[in-house]
Amino acid sequence: MSLVSLLPTACPRCILRLQNIRTPPSYTRPIRPTPPCSLCLGILQDPALTALITALRPHLSALRHDRRFKINASLPISASLLRDRAARHVLHHANLHPASPTDPHNVSLREAVKWAVCARVHDAFGMRYHPDAQLFVDLSFSHTPSNSDAAFVHTDPANPHKRRRLQNDVSATAVVRAAAAMTDQQFVETMGPRFFPPPPIEQPAEVAVSVYVAPVLFAGRYNKLSRVVSQTPWFVDAPPAASGLAAIARANEGKVTDQYGRRKRTELSVEDAATAGIREVLNPDKATFTAGGREDVDVRMLGKGRPFVVEVINPKIVPALIEEEMVERMRALAASVSSSVVIRDFRMVSKEYFAQMRSFEMEKKKCYRCVVWTRREVGSEELKDKLEVQGGFMLRQKTPLRVLHRRTQAVRERCIFEARLTRVVSPNFFVMDVVAAAGTYIKEFVHGDHGRTLPNVAQLLDCDADIVQLDVTDIYTDSEKR
Ligand SMILES: [Zn+2]
Repeated sequence: MSLVSLLPTACPRCILRLQNIRTPPSYTRPIRPTPPCSLCLGILQDPALTALITALRPHLSALRHDRRFKINASLPISASLLRDRAARHVLHHANLHPASPTDPHNVSLREAVKWAVCARVHDAFGMRYHPDAQLFVDLSFSHTPSNSDAAFVHTDPANPHKRRRLQNDVSATAVVRAAAAMTDQQFVETMGPRFFPPPPIEQPAEVAVSVYVAPVLFAGRYNKLSRVVSQTPWFVDAPPAASGLAAIARANEGKVTDQYGRRKRTELSVEDAATAGIREVLNPDKATFTAGGREDVDVRMLGKGRPFVVEVINPKIVPALIEEEMVERMRALAASVSSSVVIRDFRMVSKEYFAQMRSFEMEKKKCYRCVVWTRREVGSEELKDKLEVQGGFMLRQKTPLRVLHRRTQAVRERCIFEARLTRVVSPNFFVMDVVAAAGTYIKEFVHGDHGRTLPNVAQLLDCDADIVQLDVTDIYTDSEKR
């Protein structure tokens, strides 16, 4: 008996892989047209490979790439596992397959698909498979009729005629696990005699093609020179703004809508400026903005600025082809969004930058300039005496009332390293510079938040005090030069 007569509905490429032929060019030689193969479900046959190339073409022409690609194929479990094992069992039984049907060194359908597809992609688009490629071709093959081959997973082994009520789609993992636990004899009994050799099919598998480009990160720092610009866009359907800011939000409401038609509460955000160039030049599916902390909308961010990172998902150009000239264009676009937001040190970074951001977040110190009002008149000598304390203040801050709706209730110890009187504006107003640890609530340090932050400026001066204006004048870590 020959292989072909034992497996009459196998395609020539499946015959090759069942002989464990490992020379990729063998899988690209022309083959005569045959009915849909009952082993690969048509996946290795020319109609499927041709359809796949046709489907890939528009995806690839929408991208700029460096002719390198990686491939991921999701295969029907019946083809990659059950029919493969059954065919090898038939051959093994006839002494035509020296290795065990489950030998891990057998050429898998996945390997053969990769060889066949890579050759086709190379011929059609001049692209090569490369392990470091930043372009991913994702192939998802499906074949509904053969899903019933895996129906045994539905069945209770103790009572094989009663089907368990499981979900309709058996997960591939469950099938792999169940089949791996079976001896060859058990596999034959489970699949039944009609499966040896695997029965013919009428329609070949269908393929869905998608193409992804590796994500890329950009980082920078921003200055926010306005008290009506928020860090991230606020939307009408977002949670209500803190009370004092609602008026600003209302004033801007409805001026701009996002791509989903939601009305933004503020007409511009730092995120809009930081991602403007990326969106324009790279046209990604998504650009996710993350900053190292945040300030309130009415607080300006001055000095060297606050660091941020933007993760760019599925850009329309592979990262390897992003040139300095493009980054320069992104910088120019970011600068053109608003005079209230300055984007600086904008550059492409590696993914290790996320870890750096996190440690920055933990270690950073922030410098603030506060304009403070006091109910009674306080002279500069008294201010210096009570606020410019050697060694600063160790604060116990309960979660501020204004953020209780989104933060858990806790008492946090935070350090004010230094407070310094900068200027007495009038008997009831003064300007104070403060250096504080990450996570310190400065507004609460001034007015006390109904005694929830201790000590506080109001308590130290023994009169009501409130914060009129607040700016972040710098953010730095001890390792950075201040
Ligand atoms: Zn085949």
